[in-house]
Amino acid sequence: MPLPAPKTGCLWMKIPNKDWWEVVMLHFPDAEATYDVLPTPSNLNQWIGEDLSWHLCQTPATLRHILVGCKTSLSQGRYTWRHNQVLRQLAIILEGRRITNNALPPLRPGFSEAIPFVRAGQLPTKPTTKMETNLLESARDWKMQVDLDQRLSFPPEIISTNLRPDLILWSTSQKSLFIVELTVPWEAAIGEANERKRLKYSDLLAEVVQQGWRSQLFPVEVGFRGFVAMVTTRLLKGLGVTGQALRQAVRSLSEAAERSSNWLWLKRKDPKWAVK
Ligand SMILES: [Zn+2]
Repeated sequence: MPLPAPKTGCLWMKIPNKDWWEVVMLHFPDAEATYDVLPTPSNLNQWIGEDLSWHLCQTPATLRHILVGCKTSLSQGRYTWRHNQVLRQLAIILEGRRITNNALPPLRPGFSEAIPFVRAGQLPTKPTTKMETNLLESARDWKMQVDLDQRLSFPPEIISTNLRPDLILWSTSQKSLFIVELTVPWEAAIGEANERKRLKYSDLLAEVVQQGWRSQLFPVEVGFRGFVAMVTTRLLKGLGVTGQALRQAVRSLSEAAERSSNWLWLKRKDPKWAVK
C-alpha cells in the first residue's frame, strides 16, 4: 500500500513506499494504539482529507472499531481468525511442554516427584530450595485438546458440557484439569476480558470439582497489537516454560497477534474475507 501524496506537517512523510503500519510502528513503537495514530479513516480525514466511510459497515471507523469492534468483521470471522493464529502459537508451546514432561522419568506410585537416579555409593542430592516445580510435574499422562482444527469436546470421564474453551490439559491419573481460554482484546480492555472469562467458566469449574477433579482456569490475553499480558506469562511459567524458552514463547505470541492485526488492517477495506 503506497503512501498517499505527501502533505506538510505529517511525521512519516519522509519515508516513501512503506506500509502505513510499518511507518507508524517506526515512529510510535509503543504508543500507536494508545494515541490512535494509525491512519484510521477519521484520522485520514483530518490528515489527508480521505472519505470517512469505509467499506465494511456504516459505523465511523476508529482504530478500535476496525481492529476489535466491528460486528461485520466479527461475523465474517476476521477476529476469530486472528484469535486462532495466536491460539495456534500457544498450543505449539504447550504441546512442547506436555511432550517433554510426559517423557520424564516415571513417578513413584503415590508420590508426585520423579524417582531420583542415585548411583551406588552416592548420596542422593537434596531437593533444591529454588522453586522449580511446575504444574505438569505431578503426572506423566497429560493429554491436551485445542479448539482449532477439531472441535474441542470435554472428555466424558471429566464432565459433559457444551462449553468449548480454547484449550484443555488433563491428567487422568491425577484427576487434574487445566482450562485455558484466550482472548485477543483491545489492550486497555484486558482486565475486562479476563473477568468475563472467569464468570463464564465458574459453574463448570464447580461441577468439575464435584466430580472429584482438581481444576484450574487460566483466562489469558494477548493484546491485539502484541502486548502479552502478565496472566499469560504466568501460565507459561506455571507450566514450566522458563528462561530463554519463555522469552521466545512470549515473542512468538506477541508476533502472532501483531502480524494478524496488521493483516486485518491491510484488509480493512476489502469486503471479502476468505482465509485459506
Ligand atoms: Zn463496523
